[in-house]
Amino acid sequence: MYTCAQCGVLACASEDWEKLPANCPIRKGELLNTALETYQLPENRDFYITASELETLGYCQWPRIKEIIQLCLRMQYQKIGLAFCKGLKQEAKIVDNLLRKAGLNVVSVICKAGGVDKCESGIPDERKLKPGQFEPMCNPIFQAMLLNQEHTEFNILLGLCVGHDTMFMKYSDALCTTLAVKDRVTGHNPLAAIYCAEGYFRNRIL
Ligand code: SF4
Repeated sequence: MYTCAQCGVLACASEDWEKLPANCPIRKGELLNTALETYQLPENRDFYITASELETLGYCQWPRIKEIIQLCLRMQYQKIGLAFCKGLKQEAKIVDNLLRKAGLNVVSVICKAGGVDKCESGIPDERKLKPGQFEPMCNPIFQAMLLNQEHTEFNILLGLCVGHDTMFMKYSDALCTTLAVKDRVTGHNPLAAIYCAEGYFRNRIL
C-alpha cells in the first residue's frame, strides 16, 4: 500500500535514495520500467513530451486555458471538443471564442444535450431538485458520443459534475483534459474547501 500523501521524505524529488520509505513506489523497479517504456509508445511519446514542456515554457505565467490552447496547437490538433455544463454556459462561450481565435475548430456540446427527463435514466422523481416537473438529465455519455461522431481529436471538459465527468471520460474516444471542475459552493474552486478543511469547512466535508 502506498502512502505518498503522508510521506515526509520526498526522496523522489530530491534523489535522496538512502531515505526511501519501505513502501516507496520507487522500489517497484519492474513496474516503473514498464511505465517508462509506455511513455515511449508512439501514441504517448509526443503527447507526453509536449505536455511536459508546457511547464517550462509558461511556468507561473500561463493560465491553464493558455496551456490547453498551446497543447492543442503544438500537437497540431484541428478539431477540439468542448463538453460543458449548462451552469457554465457563459464561460463556455468565452472558452469557445478563445479556442476559435487561436485557430482551432470547436465542437461544443452542453450537458443537457438530448433534453431527456431525469426519470428516464432511472433517477427517482423525488431526487429531482423539483419533483414532479421536467428536469433534464446531464447526459455525459451522449456528449462523448456526439464528439466521437464528430471525430474530435482532443476534448476539453468544462464544469461537468462529479461522476458525470467520469462517464464522459469513460466514453470519450479522444484524450481529455479538464479546464475546470464543477463545485457549486466554491465558485468551481474545490481547493477552497481543502484550504479551509480545518477551519470554516471543518463541519461541512465529513
Ligand atoms: S515516491 Fe517515495 S519518497 Fe516520494 S513521496 Fe512517495 S513514498 Fe515518499
